[in-house]
Amino acid sequence: MKYISTRGESKKLGFEDALLRGLAPDGGLYVPDEWPVIDFKKLSDEPYWKNAADILHPFFNDFITKDELSNLTKKAYKSFDTDEMTPLIQLDDNKYILELFHGPTLAFKDFAMLLLAELFDLSLEKKNKKVTIVGATSGDTGSAAIEAFKGSQNVNIFIFFPKDRVSEIQRKQMTSTNGNGVFPVEIDGTFDDCQNIVKSLFNDSDFNKSVNLGAINSINWGRIAAQIVYYFTSFRLLKNGPVSYSVPTGNFGDILAGWAAKKMGLPIDTLVIATNENDILARALDTGLYSIDNAKATMSPSMDIQISSNFERLLFEAYNRDSLKVRNLMNELKENKKFIIEESALSFMKKDFLAKSISENETRNCIADVYKKTGYILDPHTAVGYAASDMPSGGSVITLGTAHPAKFPLAVESSIGRLPEIPDRLKKVMDGDEKFSKMGINLEKIKDFISLNI
Ligand SMILES: *Cc1c(COP(=O)(O)O)cnc(C)c1O
Repeated sequence: MKYISTRGESKKLGFEDALLRGLAPDGGLYVPDEWPVIDFKKLSDEPYWKNAADILHPFFNDFITKDELSNLTKKAYKSFDTDEMTPLIQLDDNKYILELFHGPTLAFKDFAMLLLAELFDLSLEKKNKKVTIVGATSGDTGSAAIEAFKGSQNVNIFIFFPKDRVSEIQRKQMTSTNGNGVFPVEIDGTFDDCQNIVKSLFNDSDFNKSVNLGAINSINWGRIAAQIVYYFTSFRLLKNGPVSYSVPTGNFGDILAGWAAKKMGLPIDTLVIATNENDILARALDTGLYSIDNAKATMSPSMDIQISSNFERLLFEAYNRDSLKVRNLMNELKENKKFIIEESALSFMKKDFLAKSISENETRNCIADVYKKTGYILDPHTAVGYAASDMPSGGSVITLGTAHPAKFPLAVESSIGRLPEIPDRLKKVMDGDEKFSKMGINLEKIKDFISLNI
């Protein structure tokens, strides 16, 4: 499989190069040259990792054989706390939660990050190279990345997180792993400051070359690909009638994977873009105007995003893969903080997607309501998805359960008056010794720190 940039001004690459590069040099995102088709009826009740290899191999076929890939997926997903991998829980007549939080950091990002780490390792091993991964996090991405890469001999990983703005649990998940080559760094600043540090490091080409930087944020195609698998495997669990998905959405990665699954032949009915009060996507689908507002802090922090990076990949498809048009839209966004989606592109999106923004009150009520009726405790992100799951007009709706409620105890307590139970693997993290560095927003010092430690 070859990969092209959504902005059309970068070379076509094979999978391995697209993986290691992350972002295309023209600022665009890599997308597969064509969409492979998978006969979902041929998938069997085999273990998740086997199905994952079958579904994903067409994307990686110029890099590894299918047997090599099954070895990787088996290794990547060995540390889940249930053999089922993604239990499907029925909460109402037609409503289900797909629990995607049984991995090591109790959020769905483990699925993508664990596979990405294996793919990176294999490539670096073959090339006999080392890479320095730098990333900014507001919480879940950093812990998933550290957990996934901590055992790698070929990777040093530096994760920047904002002081006092990640929860205690999230911080401890990043700082108590004691892995070799793992460097959590608390920055005296905001998440945006952390992200700017990472951008500046990438833009410094001398530094970039000297330490061989690698990117693992959610624009990396390898991460999106990994998330396609659970749409296929969960679809098979419901035997009759149309199936829709409601997806708690921030950067548009997880739901884009659902759209890719549909494109690959899975007959998904509707994909619901469920957002919190940061409603840019719901407004865009409603009015055609994509316009950046200020990001609000909500009880579902991993979705407090205004610029949904992966939306560019959907725009590219909605505009019939016209990269010139995408380039123009992205330039407009940079200059004016908004653009208008053309009528034909908007109706393309409306064929597959519905969108709804859920308020803080609705989120809290949803958690309370479900708890009262069923005893099940939703985390605030999943609750946003569940609250939007009555949008499709018929058939079953699967809401993606993106995090375990114990990761967000205060939001849960404020909704149902009690704390969620803490799973054993999280208790261990809470009791572990923390090790991390503290730094100010000083690029030169940060560069020295990285160079000294690799
Ligand atoms: C990252 C995250 C999301 C949003 O996923 P995107 O792929 O960015 O849309 C939702 N819920 C949780 C718990 C997350 O960590």
